[in-house]
Amino acid sequence: MTQRTLVLLKPDAVRRGLTGEIISRIERKAGWRITALELRTLDQDTLEQHYGEHQGKPFYEPLVEFMASGPVVAMIVEGERVIEGLRQLAGPTDPIAAAPGSIRGDYGVIVRENLIHASDSEESSAREIKIFFPGQA
Ligand code: GDP
Ligand code: MG
Repeated sequence: MTQRTLVLLKPDAVRRGLTGEIISRIERKAGWRITALELRTLDQDTLEQHYGEHQGKPFYEPLVEFMASGPVVAMIVEGERVIEGLRQLAGPTDPIAAAPGSIRGDYGVIVRENLIHASDSEESSAREIKIFFPGQA
C-alpha cells in the first residue's frame, strides 16, 4: 500500500542541526522516498490551517508561536505504509514516553519541542499536503 505523508522537521530540529540525522533515518527505510522538500518559515495562516483541530486547547497558542519561531523543513515522503511507519519512527507526542530508537525518544525532552510532525491518517495527509505543497496535492 503506497501512501504519501506530510512531514515537518520543527524549528527545534532545524536550530539544533538535527535535520540531516532525521532525514537520513527516513531515507534508510527501504523503499521510502522524499518527493518534495523545502526549508520554510511558517506564517500564522498556514499554522492555523495545519493545527486547526487544536484551536482552543491550552497548548495551541504556544505551539503556534513555537512553530513560527524559525524555519521548518517541510517534506512529502512516499512509500509502503509510510503514514503509520513515520508515526512509529517519530514516536509518541511526549518525548519522555517515546521509546529510545524513535526520533522523539532519542532527541526530545519537552512535549511542545518534539522535533517532528507526521500526518496521522490518510485524511490528514491529503489535507496537509494541500496546505504545504498545493502543486502536488
Ligand atoms: P502529534 O500528532 O504527535 O504531533 O500530537 P498532537 O497532534 O496531539 O499535537 C500537536 C503538537 O502540539 C505536538 O506535536 C506537540 O508539539 C504539541 N502538543 C500536543 N499536546 C501538548 C501538550 O499537552 N502540551 C504541550 N506543551 N504541547 C503539546
Ligand atoms: Mg497530530
